[in-house]
Amino acid sequence: MKLLSKIIDSNDYSVSTLGSHCSLQVLKGAKDEGFKTLLICEKKRSSLYKRFKFIDELFFLDNFHDLLSKDIQNKLINKKILLIPHGTLISNLKYDEIEKINIPIFGNKWILRWEADRELKQKLMYDSNFNTPQQIKGKKEIKNLCIVKLHGAAGGKGYFLAWDEQSFDEGCRKLIEKKVIKTENELYIQEYVIGVPIFLQFFYSPLKNEVELLGIDRRYESDIDGIGRIPSQVQIKLDFNPTYNVIGNFPVVLRESLLQETFLMAEKFVETSKKLVPPGIPGPFCLEGVYDRNGTFVTFEFSARIVAGTNLFINGSPYSDLLYEEPMSMGRRICREIKEAIRLDKLREIIT
Ligand code: AMP
Repeated sequence: MKLLSKIIDSNDYSVSTLGSHCSLQVLKGAKDEGFKTLLICEKKRSSLYKRFKFIDELFFLDNFHDLLSKDIQNKLINKKILLIPHGTLISNLKYDEIEKINIPIFGNKWILRWEADRELKQKLMYDSNFNTPQQIKGKKEIKNLCIVKLHGAAGGKGYFLAWDEQSFDEGCRKLIEKKVIKTENELYIQEYVIGVPIFLQFFYSPLKNEVELLGIDRRYESDIDGIGRIPSQVQIKLDFNPTYNVIGNFPVVLRESLLQETFLMAEKFVETSKKLVPPGIPGPFCLEGVYDRNGTFVTFEFSARIVAGTNLFINGSPYSDLLYEEPMSMGRRICREIKEAIRLDKLREIIT
């Protein structure tokens, strides 16, 4: 807490994040808002990040795990950074490790546990009254098409489809052989919802007490988006279990008649997160689901921090354009909130 005060009271911050995921967007946004920028960079990626002039300083680590070292944390604290968390932080460190980091983190670091733990995640979605896919308790209960998932933010890597016990065992065996998992207990089985996947990118401003929709995307996933390029006669002959590894993203606009419900969902989610995990969800979050043939949104996941699909909108999106007279990426919106919080002396409300 002492360390936190030291930084907050100094009034001279650098915005920082890990070099991956959406770091270019975030640091570009920070520079546009007038902040100094510091990128925490694995040495192997230095040639990429040295290209971008809006990055004032590169802070090198051998790997992101080194962030757990007190010595490294102290060095970063002395540089007065505010750390913006994203998917790479979550996939490299466990949530209890993130909770112990002393560097001030934008948003609510305690809610990252609720993103990573499937049971907690389910509770937050249930208490928000979301339509969610049915959870299947065990492989013997698989009756219809299911998607089998790994825990944590794996970006869809390793997911597979199963339609009965045998197909589950087959997919599981392959993951064990590839040493992705040790036992089937590490897998989570969910009803597969037929429809179109949509990712709704929101920002909640505690300063304005308002939810903003800043963008919508869908993902481009290997192999599931590639399999349609192979004729069905060939598909049948392949011993091939398509996976859902995210490679990129496409922009989407939604039918306008569907928009109202998205705001109601997001506002309910903000309210529920305040109750279950104070201080709630200051900053970006993403509701992830499938619109079925009736136009019903079935939420299969949420991300309690910025998602990489926001990289589409570095120059703004159709939705941010409705709210701002200037290009407003999610990264820039985060930094605008930080700037406003500093001005109002409310920084403690948006960092943990
Ligand atoms: P996730 O990592 O949970 O966001 O999911 C990765 C991908 O799996 C998504 O982009 C969807 O294409 C797909 N997916 C996840 N859950 C479901 C579900 N319950 N029904 C249908 N598709 C899903």
